[in-house]
Amino acid sequence: MLTAYTLDRRDRIIAVSPEWDQFALDNEGRSACADLVVGGRLMDAITGDSVRMFMTAILMRVRVSGQSEAVSYRCDSPTTKRRFVMVLEPLADGGVRVTHHLEHEELTNLRIRVRTADYGQRALQRCSICCRIREEGVWVDPFEENRNRDLWVIHTLCDDCKQAPLQRYRQRQLRDPPETAQALGA
Ligand SMILES: [Zn+2]
Repeated sequence: MLTAYTLDRRDRIIAVSPEWDQFALDNEGRSACADLVVGGRLMDAITGDSVRMFMTAILMRVRVSGQSEAVSYRCDSPTTKRRFVMVLEPLADGGVRVTHHLEHEELTNLRIRVRTADYGQRALQRCSICCRIREEGVWVDPFEENRNRDLWVIHTLCDDCKQAPLQRYRQRQLRDPPETAQALGA
């Protein structure tokens, strides 16, 4: 399965692939996945300040470097663990095409219901990239706890996921000599 959307240079959504709506309708757990509206701004569809900052940073890097980036993430439904890869490709005139590829899914016999907490409501932090929740200071995969859960969450990023893009970027800088990056970005 593959879903995609296209952003203009101001992160306005100018197109979504036809599968997008079906995917949203099929998935009760879609609250963590962006619900996208053509003509709207991507950042309005993303919940959580640190998640928005994460996306803003990747989009900026893709535009400045002229190179695609890939981010592996989880977007679970209540019963199914799902791993996706998001690929961001720079387009002419500052646009970016974002494609989501389903890499792996694993149906469980659990039911992990996740809902976004209202402001001020007691809630757990949940990482929007790896879907782990923070309990007593530790980031845990709710499916690994082997019991049904009903979770109220706020969307953020765990420490590992915050670090991951930066590490990847540094590694790539080491691999690619600066003149190559410049030539591709030009
Ligand atoms: Zn995480």
